[in-house]
Amino acid sequence: MTELAQAPTGERTDTVRISHWIGGTIVQGESGRSGPVYNPATGQQSGDVDFASVEEIGRAVAAAKEAFPAWRAVSLSKRAEIMFRIRELAHERREEIARILTAEHGKVLSDAIGEVARGLEVIEFACGIPTLLKGGFSEQASTGIDVYSIRQPLGVVAGITPFNFPAMVPMWMWAPAIACGNTFVLKPSEKDPSASLYVAELLQEAGVPDGVFNVVHGDKVAVDAILEHPDIVAVSFVGSTPIARYIYETGTKHGKRIQALGGAKNHMVVLPDADIDMAADAAVSAAYGSAGERCMAISQVVAVGDVADRLVNAIRERLPKIKVGDGMQPDVEMGPLVTREHRDKVASYLDRGREQGATLVEDGRETAPESDGFFLGVSLIDHVTPEMDVYKDEIFGPVLGVTRVGTYDEALRLVNENPYGNGTAIFTRDGGVARQFQFDVQVGMVGVNVPIPVPVAYYSFGGWKSSLFGDSHIYGPEGINFYTRGKVVTSRWPDPATSKVDLGFPQTR
Ligand code: NAD
Repeated sequence: MTELAQAPTGERTDTVRISHWIGGTIVQGESGRSGPVYNPATGQQSGDVDFASVEEIGRAVAAAKEAFPAWRAVSLSKRAEIMFRIRELAHERREEIARILTAEHGKVLSDAIGEVARGLEVIEFACGIPTLLKGGFSEQASTGIDVYSIRQPLGVVAGITPFNFPAMVPMWMWAPAIACGNTFVLKPSEKDPSASLYVAELLQEAGVPDGVFNVVHGDKVAVDAILEHPDIVAVSFVGSTPIARYIYETGTKHGKRIQALGGAKNHMVVLPDADIDMAADAAVSAAYGSAGERCMAISQVVAVGDVADRLVNAIRERLPKIKVGDGMQPDVEMGPLVTREHRDKVASYLDRGREQGATLVEDGRETAPESDGFFLGVSLIDHVTPEMDVYKDEIFGPVLGVTRVGTYDEALRLVNENPYGNGTAIFTRDGGVARQFQFDVQVGMVGVNVPIPVPVAYYSFGGWKSSLFGDSHIYGPEGINFYTRGKVVTSRWPDPATSKVDLGFPQTR
């Protein structure tokens, strides 16, 4: 990061000021509004992030607008070369990026490195932009007439991202967007904003021209300014469902193309014939990895038939082995939650679950390390039913619920009746049942004996129902479509035989 970005704030000497990145340079905010950034492992404030005003959003959009004509004219091979250079730099510096993520988000370093690796896959996909933008061509569609299609960038596009993947989710957006020839304004989460500034400098070093990639920080004021700005053509959003709905409704009202990915409640269905050790390992890593703060986390196991006792026991046996602590420590497997308020909200579901009739098998409050950090140990709640808050709400923490059902049909109905439809998984040895589940289930991403089925970068990522507003999934082929628009050219050239210049063509062919 630049010295300016890390300069101590005026008021406090122990926090850094985190500013905007506009037109290729750090720009200190002038709105007079800012927000605190914490190190969740210590509970201490580590930074102050500037919140952009409407005018400051306008400056970032103006920089992006100015950069657009030259950037879209850069040849595909040159743009691909720059994407390759970004890929090399990000790969080389993945640990530096990961350390920034752990310091502000709290996830353990190995998980943060994994986050960067998954983001890198999308950058690698975008390196293939010359192939991805190839159009179609129909020679002699009519006599002497050829028809061909091309895809062109939209202009200035924006991304608004959540706290839980501060490097990867922005990469899902900016990598395909700029590879397609757009210019970009990113509004990252105000809870962990520093990774985006690091990436902005990395992009500049890789040869991305100034103004092509801009970062503005802020809250609702900044988001509304983006949604209302007439020069922003499209907005990608990832975050919670209520905000995703708001982004979709407000953005489309202002004539923008919107893809808005929302929250989740991912069910893992375990059938009686499943490999219990495989299912228990999968449930534990998918429920508690990154302290459950993943949109593809498993938050609800659906145990079918007599598998329930065996499965709950196998999960419970594994819980004491999960070491909770500061994510920078190499032997720690689960870090703190992102803020104190969020930790307290997650913890409040444990008593509520018990009061509403569920069984608290493991209470994470009892195993949280003694610390000022925002820690909560892992929790397991059995006998959860669909009326309970622990079932209905996206808790977004290290809390795994178990619902017991009698049959495959009951399990399927639960998944399909849930308002969310981001990810789901089935654990079974029966290929026929797995195939039927894949056919029946109303969810966008399905795992068969795979708990977190995040699609590889050359497919697209997206949920159904309240997990996605808009019709376009993110990254992969749908990402390329989202960030471009089609043009079809119908062309006819005069018959060369009729040329006034003698080209040596026969009069009749
Ligand atoms: P959030 O919705 O609170 O915030 C997301 C973004 O919206 C942030 O940049 C934030 O500044 C902005 N924002 C927040 N409140 C706003 C408001 N009132 N008006 C305008 N903008 C506002 O989400 P979060 O807590 O940062 O992230 C966690 C959520 O994101 C979870 O619900 C999780 O499931 C979801 N998520 C979904 C996916 C997916 O792919 N579907 C991926 C990651 C996270």
